[in-house]
Amino acid sequence: MFLRVEAMRILVVGGAGYIGSHMVKRLARDGHEVVVLDNLSTGHREAARFGEMVEGDLGDSALLDRLLGQRPFAAVMHFGAYSQVGESSQEPAAYYRNNAAYTLNLLDAMRAHAVHLLVFSSTAAVFGEPTYIPIDESHPLHPLNPYGRSKRMVEEILADYEQAYGLHWAALRYFNAAGADPEGDLGEQHEPETHLIPIVLQVASGRRSELQVFGDDYDTPDGTCIRDYVHVTDLCDAHALALDYLCSGRPSRAWNLGTEAGFSVREVVDAARRVTGREIPLRMMPRRPGDPARLVADSAAARRDLGWRPQFPDLETMISHAWRWECRIRDGDLPLAKGVPAR
Ligand code: UDP
Repeated sequence: MFLRVEAMRILVVGGAGYIGSHMVKRLARDGHEVVVLDNLSTGHREAARFGEMVEGDLGDSALLDRLLGQRPFAAVMHFGAYSQVGESSQEPAAYYRNNAAYTLNLLDAMRAHAVHLLVFSSTAAVFGEPTYIPIDESHPLHPLNPYGRSKRMVEEILADYEQAYGLHWAALRYFNAAGADPEGDLGEQHEPETHLIPIVLQVASGRRSELQVFGDDYDTPDGTCIRDYVHVTDLCDAHALALDYLCSGRPSRAWNLGTEAGFSVREVVDAARRVTGREIPLRMMPRRPGDPARLVADSAAARRDLGWRPQFPDLETMISHAWRWECRIRDGDLPLAKGVPAR
């Protein structure tokens, strides 16, 4: 849709994490010079191997000043955040500090060193319990937990920084990121894992005995929660397109990123049974606090403004890419995860 941007030097904060590491590989493949800043609190050094790794924390303003002062950066992509909804209610201080206050450190370092382009990882959690489905960008923002609130705060800060300091930004609100690098180099690896698809696949691979289904009494056709799963490669495409968009001087804004299809927990399990050929035992559990019954994106704006078209909208494809990755973890075929037992 746009002229592809020229090769740039790009700082990827959180580039050793799940989505960030896939982005680093993508940017490097596109010919950009990629510097990763990651404190390795949840990421893996090995995952950042497609870029140049700087181990450090956004809390360290002196480091940010040195890093951005040494070489000119054309843009920043910021994936570095805590992202567990439940934990955020127990540890709000950590979430507001890491996700909101430390992002201010980054923005101020960018300002000091005249870096004007930012692609920011936001989330569907900014919406809270939806009042209509699918959720477009006009839907009101009523986040239900400190995680969602910390992301909404940053979105508000970005708008103010644009007004006052000329920052150009894109906030990408991911629905449920899923899948793994189609070439098998990267994937999702959280400790502990809380997300549905990796847990389902740990059960399939034998690293976990059963899936606990958090609630089967929701107002949905099969009683389990419905989510919009989007392939990590497609999220990376959206970031690359958002960077092109910002480079073309068009107005900053937020976009909702999903495939616009909803799948229930039971449908995800059935798809995983088809992909893996394994049984996947279930145990019904009470609802998990703060889970909306349905979250499905309206991504018409991303399609229209960015020319974004998910390449892997099919749930079974997402699961099969994640399954290949899970098998590598189970088999100890990864430098960081030799025989790592699931909990
Ligand atoms: N879920 C589940 N069992 C698990 C993990 C998740 O039943 O072990 C459900 C969860 O309640 C939600 C859906 O799967 O309805 C997706 O959860 P996930 O944590 O992957 O993403 P979220 O939508 O919370 O960002």
